[in-house]
Amino acid sequence: MDKIINCIDEGNYFIVTSHVNPDGDNIGSTLSMYYYLKSINKQVYYVLDDDIPLNLKFLLNDIDILNSEEFEKLNLKDFSIISLDCGDLGRICLDKDLIDRASKLICIDHHASNQSFGDLNYIIPEASSTCELVYNILKRINQIKNTQVMDSKIATALYAGVVTDTGKFTYSNTSPSTFDMAKDLLVLGAESNKVICEVYGNNPYNYYKLLGEALNTLNIIETKVATITLTQDMLSRNNVSFKDTDGITPYCRDIENVEVGILVKEKSPNEIKISLRSKNYVDVSQIAKKFNGGGHVRAAGLTVFGETIENATKMVVDETLKYI
Ligand code: 5GP
Ligand code: MN
Repeated sequence: MDKIINCIDEGNYFIVTSHVNPDGDNIGSTLSMYYYLKSINKQVYYVLDDDIPLNLKFLLNDIDILNSEEFEKLNLKDFSIISLDCGDLGRICLDKDLIDRASKLICIDHHASNQSFGDLNYIIPEASSTCELVYNILKRINQIKNTQVMDSKIATALYAGVVTDTGKFTYSNTSPSTFDMAKDLLVLGAESNKVICEVYGNNPYNYYKLLGEALNTLNIIETKVATITLTQDMLSRNNVSFKDTDGITPYCRDIENVEVGILVKEKSPNEIKISLRSKNYVDVSQIAKKFNGGGHVRAAGLTVFGETIENATKMVVDETLKYI
């Protein structure tokens, strides 16, 4: 942590970024680091080559996100990258050239599968979220500088990340330290009600039509494994984007007797994105790893290229059954 704090103090230009398919922890951790760097007058750019889900856009109302190309046009020579919530180098949502050109790559993450790809790494798999790690860093800075660097904006961003990555404090990654942090963030002015209403209470009508169709595909295999399938046809018929479907994932797990839920999503005709969730004993990150994916014990993901939805589903279900 202290090496990272020193590196931040010594640098001038920073990119903050995260993984593809942004989620709440991805955005909350990146945004809170962005706000902190701004507050200490660093030149900081939020760069991400992906679209933001509708229900998380409220966090970014007063922020400009650049894509790699836009950043390249600035012609900066000496900058460091802070990668947040990203489990491996290949998943950083930036041009590879940009990553190669960075003076320093700082990795802050909580994925157990992370192989420490940064020049400096702060990786704690036990942490509820990457937001909890940013919170630890900012708390450490408070201690070193004898000040309070977390304002209500930072607190709201961190709160959004911890709420989403813990399933509103229900998943097994929720620990006493998670609640300690949440309490502190509320004291600092985190807009908790706004976060809950925006993230979970504002789904468009079309989303429910899509959810209905998705639930009709529910298939239970040997009582312990469930699959739900989302095709491009279903998305376009209901006018819902791929990036706005994360809320459907828990349904495949939250079923009587089911241990592993598998959400199969057709991202493009050649690209099947699969989300794995487990309840009690299956380490789904191991299953994801077999297909070059990764993630956490209870939540992991992978992508299958060049297979039909049926084949991709069968491959992952067959692998999953070995763990049941
Ligand atoms: P989701 O299923 O919601 O996309 O992701 C669940 C968790 O697994 C997240 O922590 C996410 O970062 C991680 N994850 C999802 N897909 C991949 C992947 O292809 N590779 C790796 N390393 N992690 C993934
Ligand atoms: Mn996370």
